[in-house]
Amino acid sequence: MHVPYCRQRCHYCDFNTYLLDPAGKVRYLGALERELALLAADPALTRPLVSVYVGGGTPSILEPAELERLLAAVRRAFRLAPDAEVTVECNPGTLDEERLAVLRDGGVNRLSLGLQAVQDELLRAIGRDHTWADFCATYRRVRRAGFDNVNVDLIFGLPGQSLEQWEASLRAVVDLGPEHVSCYGLELHPGTPFYREWEAGRLQLPGEDAERAMFDRAYEVLGEAGFVRYEISNYARPGRESVHNRVYWLNGSYLGAGPGAWSCWRGERRRNRLHPMAYAAALAEGRLPVDVTERVDRRRAMEDTMILGLRLAEGVDEGRFARRFGLTPEEAFPRAIRRLLEEGWLVREGGRIRLSPAAVPVANSVLVAFVDTDDIRTGAGGGPGGVDAAAPTR
Ligand code: SF4
Repeated sequence: MHVPYCRQRCHYCDFNTYLLDPAGKVRYLGALERELALLAADPALTRPLVSVYVGGGTPSILEPAELERLLAAVRRAFRLAPDAEVTVECNPGTLDEERLAVLRDGGVNRLSLGLQAVQDELLRAIGRDHTWADFCATYRRVRRAGFDNVNVDLIFGLPGQSLEQWEASLRAVVDLGPEHVSCYGLELHPGTPFYREWEAGRLQLPGEDAERAMFDRAYEVLGEAGFVRYEISNYARPGRESVHNRVYWLNGSYLGAGPGAWSCWRGERRRNRLHPMAYAAALAEGRLPVDVTERVDRRRAMEDTMILGLRLAEGVDEGRFARRFGLTPEEAFPRAIRRLLEEGWLVREGGRIRLSPAAVPVANSVLVAFVDTDDIRTGAGGGPGGVDAAAPTR
């Protein structure tokens, strides 16, 4: 569920998010409840949800009563598995005791906190609206409220960031003791202030070698502290991997609600209208606010299953792939897999194919072998494209 509002825009962010507009927010929340009810009425939805993820934007910007209503609306509309993971993304400075109590009482059992760096000068330079001290105060409040599954987001490769600063951020987060840490490299997206600065030659980025060193340092520091890198950018204490993100990486099915939210459902990828007003207008007419629909054919589903699955440290389960598509990965991509195995970019063992340690830092250039390739046999058997009909999503 996408909450499309923030207190201020970070300079690197290209998410579909807007500055808070109180009247628009009320319309949006009413529309979201209608959308949830419409999505839940789909007769194809036969299994309980294994995960609910409220992201944004800044979900914690909503008033306590609004959060309560939203969480109640989800539970009214959908059946949740007894051990479903229910995550809410929060930013420091918007998360007080009252909101935390509402989240806990509403069944939220995982929080994801945006930090990015621990140096206040870096936080200011990237447009964050909090300090490191604000974050620490929020983190203590979260723990006091009883949340025992917490993710912290960090970004490396920030303008002006040194390797020492990055390591200091990692060590400070380790000292806090969260269950999960996400470390993403900065990306420059057209339309963002950082992109404009970069085009004008005014953005001092650390450079490729420094970024690679930061990527490696994350693995070392978090590894020493007992975190396992279970996906290229994600680290968790054993057993605390994100159920929600695994659904994406296993190319599973999901429903998205809210402005601009994507769904991957019954062989289709579809995206909602982007602007909250346009989104609410469609729902006011009683219809789903979808404005982009792409059919996911077998070929695309096979490519996606490889590209997403190889991001996981456990790699692609060859048996699961064969049950889904009627062909093993090697039968589907004979030349690419043979070449990548020979060149040492892939490893095959125990019925799984995964990236080799050398391939992890350069994963995108390895995974490109599975994109729009002529080297694919789609066969005729197996499940329908885009739907993992055989296996549960966790
Ligand atoms: S708080 Fe998150 S969603 Fe909002 S502008 Fe910053 S990065 Fe983007």
